[in-house]
Amino acid sequence: MSMQNQMEEAEVSILHTYNRFPVVFERGEGVYLYDTEGKKYLDFAAGIAVNALGYHYPGYDEALKEQIDKLTHISNLYYNETLITAGARVTLQSGMSKVFFTNSGTEAIEGAIKAARRYAYDKRGHAGGEIIAMNHSFHGRSIGALSLTGNAHYREPFEPLMGGVRFADFNDLESVKACLNENTCAIIAETVQGEGGIYPATQEFLEGLRRICDERDMLLILDEIQCGMGRTGHYFAWQAYGIQPDIMTCAKALGCGVPVGAFVLNERAAAHSLVPGDHGTTYGGNPFVCAAVTKVFDIFEKDMILAHVQELTPYLEETLERLVSEVPCAAGHRGMGFIQGLVVEGKNVGDVIKLALKKGLVIISAGTNVIRLVPPLIITRAHIDEMAAILKESLLEA
Ligand SMILES: *Cc1c(COP(=O)(O)O)cnc(C)c1O
Repeated sequence: MSMQNQMEEAEVSILHTYNRFPVVFERGEGVYLYDTEGKKYLDFAAGIAVNALGYHYPGYDEALKEQIDKLTHISNLYYNETLITAGARVTLQSGMSKVFFTNSGTEAIEGAIKAARRYAYDKRGHAGGEIIAMNHSFHGRSIGALSLTGNAHYREPFEPLMGGVRFADFNDLESVKACLNENTCAIIAETVQGEGGIYPATQEFLEGLRRICDERDMLLILDEIQCGMGRTGHYFAWQAYGIQPDIMTCAKALGCGVPVGAFVLNERAAAHSLVPGDHGTTYGGNPFVCAAVTKVFDIFEKDMILAHVQELTPYLEETLERLVSEVPCAAGHRGMGFIQGLVVEGKNVGDVIKLALKKGLVIISAGTNVIRLVPPLIITRAHIDEMAAILKESLLEA
């Protein structure tokens, strides 16, 4: 069957919630993808920041296969070895206290909301905790996570959403202060806004949020679902700022391709938070995904993935800087480590992306006019050069 026929057949049965790019991917190898007609693509999207180790990283598949042969699922009513090791790795690398594994980022956000409200209920003796979220944020599509997502286009059709949420401007501490009231129990922000256009938090902003939360006994929730797991050259982006959240959410690259997320609490949050009966999940943190999580941390350490990202970041940034100086419609770039955005002016980002795809480069957008680069963390200089050459052509021709 041709790719065209496959795409038409997909639209027969799959609910049309995505305007998919016109390609049918079949397999991956390293940092390359192959479509069903055998064409090769350089992958700078990584399944939206999920495939941090690319495809078939040595040892990863074997670890998963080994776990399949032992046990893929057992209820959270029981202990299992993989849960113990994966949990210990997350708390060790984050320096935080307790972890709850989920199936997705959205569910990690839901857990964080419940944990924050539970904290306020415990400390203040009544429900009704309000949360401050950021404009242009993205936290997921369930009703709770959507309620914290600062994008009216995503929210409007599904209102009324969860109440008790106020929106402030990212990197604007005064606007956060203006949202505070006696019921505010938490502030949530992405450490680096992803979907909204690749905006890293400023040092001053994160320090300010930390201070406000400390002063008022509120919880700081940092969403590390996209920017976490090594993407900034640190396990978690907040580690670059020296600011620890009370609750962190994690997902995407946590299992590098298996559906797993987590919300992670520091000691303070854990001491006054969810207790038996408050929260649960059937699949969350099952042996299959936990084997992946542990293997991902093993590989990151053994092969020094963070050091690699740190070492190569200046080259990626210089390359983007050169594109900005050489290509008129490339108006600027921003980001941290391997989560970078190239701002496009006067041309449609979607057209650039489609052209790049034709030329064998997979990239995605963020916000309205930003090309988002979230490659596997294992790319080399040669891959950056290859990306830049195709992106330059695409920007010029679009
Ligand atoms: C992708 C994403 C989510 C939602 O995660 P899902 O796994 O799609 O549910 C939440 N927050 C951020 C910052 C994300 O990038």
